[in-house]
Parts: sequence; structure tokens; C-alpha cells
Amino acid sequence: MFVTRFAPSPTGWLHRGHAFSALTAERAAREANGRFLLRLEDIDRSRCRPQYEQGIHDDLGWLGLSWEIPVRRQSDHMDDYARALRELAERGLVYRCFKTRREVAEAIEQAPHGAMEAYRGEPLPPEEEARRLAAGEPYAWRLSLMKAQALLGGFGGLWFGEEGEGPEGQAGVIAARPELGGDVVLARKDVGVAYHLAVVVDDALQGVTHVIRGQDLFEAAHVQRLLQALLGLPTPVYRHHRLLTDAAGRRFAKRDKAETLRDLRARGMTPAELRREMGIG
Ligand code: GLU
Repeated sequence: MFVTRFAPSPTGWLHRGHAFSALTAERAAREANGRFLLRLEDIDRSRCRPQYEQGIHDDLGWLGLSWEIPVRRQSDHMDDYARALRELAERGLVYRCFKTRREVAEAIEQAPHGAMEAYRGEPLPPEEEARRLAAGEPYAWRLSLMKAQALLGGFGGLWFGEEGEGPEGQAGVIAARPELGGDVVLARKDVGVAYHLAVVVDDALQGVTHVIRGQDLFEAAHVQRLLQALLGLPTPVYRHHRLLTDAAGRRFAKRDKAETLRDLRARGMTPAELRREMGIG
């Protein structure tokens, strides 16, 4: 059974880019006689607001979409992510990182030319780690690419299927290159989990067979494919779609204060008009 999802974060009002993504995923599910799920990615409680969560329901309802109930809200399932993290920790595949953002950026800059595109580190010596833990210093958990590579005998056997297209036209069978992302954070200092881990655990728990989302997340698939391998989870098929752009060719983004679906509604635009404008019937 074909299962896909739309997974927004309730950190702002949805805009046209979200509508395009949700409509694309829902249509794919309908065409495949499959299931369409909504998932609320709200692990970062400091940035999420109940009104944005309500807004997601209102906007998607306005667009004419329906989705399965209950909706999975990530903040209700922190135990699932903690369990996955523990599993990786017990196998030495993650390490505690006490570095600040600035220290991480400096480490990348100071690496010999080209040696480190993305951060790679290692655990502290045990005494220093114990001292910092005792002092109550905050730490993140990072994936150890070195350990993962050793366990799997390299990343050569990791592939994923791309039925859509990456930003450079990547399609078909794609060799995963998790090294591009470096030792990603799997549990943030403040939150206890991070995006990649939560997504991989949820997609597996929810039986997602097709991940349909914007091309801006294509690179994430490389890391997520590795996490699936390490956690023994199935790999969904990926369908990254083009990003909707405005008349000036700029993609819609929360940070650029893109016109929200709420605004469109308020000025009397109909869902049919919006669909027509986006070329999605
Ligand atoms: N929550 C992510 C976002 O809003 C999407 C995650 C995903 O589709 O994998 O960009």
C-alpha cells in the first residue's frame, strides 16, 4: 500500500510552497489508491505555536485536502526518538558534542583546505567528558560517520530510489553520500532529538513508502538513508519535487515573509484559483 505524508513544522503560517507540496503528495496518494498522512514536526517547542498548528489544519482543509486521524505530533513521541538514539549510542555510533555553533564553524574553517566540508569530530577523552558532564554542560549527540563507515564497511552499498528529481536533476538510483552532511546532530542540546532522526523513525513507524517533499530536502535523503541502514529500517522511495517560485523566480519561504495561505484566503482567493495558478489540478 502506497503511503505518503506532508510533514510541516508549526513554526509559522503556511504559504504557497507548502500548498504545492501538500497537494502534490495528496494527489500521488489518491492516484495510487494509497494513504495520505499529515505529520506535525514540532520537536522544537520554543518555535512552535498552537495557532500555527491550527492554521495548518485550517489551510489544508481550505485547500480541500483530507488526511488520516489521528495526526502524529512529534512532540508526543519523544520516547520513540530517545529509544532510537539509545540504540545508536549503545553501538558507539553517536558521540556527545559540547561545542558551540561558533566552535563547530571554526573547526570547519581551520581544517586543512578542503579537508572538511561539513563538520566531523570525535568524542572527548573520557575524563574530560566526565568533567563536563559533572559540571552540567549541555551537549548534542552527533552521528559518527567514522564509526558508521567502519560498521558498514563504507557507504558504497547505500542507495535510494529517486522518482522525482534533485536540484541538479538527480534521478533514478542514487548512491547515498552521507559524508556530504558531516557528523550531523541527531539530538540537539535544547530539544533532545533533531530533524533527521525524528523523520527517519517516524517514516518507518508510520509505514511511509513514498517521501514526497521539496527539492530543498534532497540532500537530507543522503543522511536519512544512512540512518535507515544503521537502525535497520526500510528505505522509502523518494520523490523530491521542484520548488514553487514567484514571478521573480524566488522560492517561497517563511523567512522572506511569503504571502501566507491565510492572506490569500482573506483577500478572497479560492482554492481552485490557487491550484490553477500553481498548475496543479
Ligand atoms: N518538517 C520538514 C519541513 O517543514 C519536512 C520534513 C520532511 O518532509 O522530511 O521542511
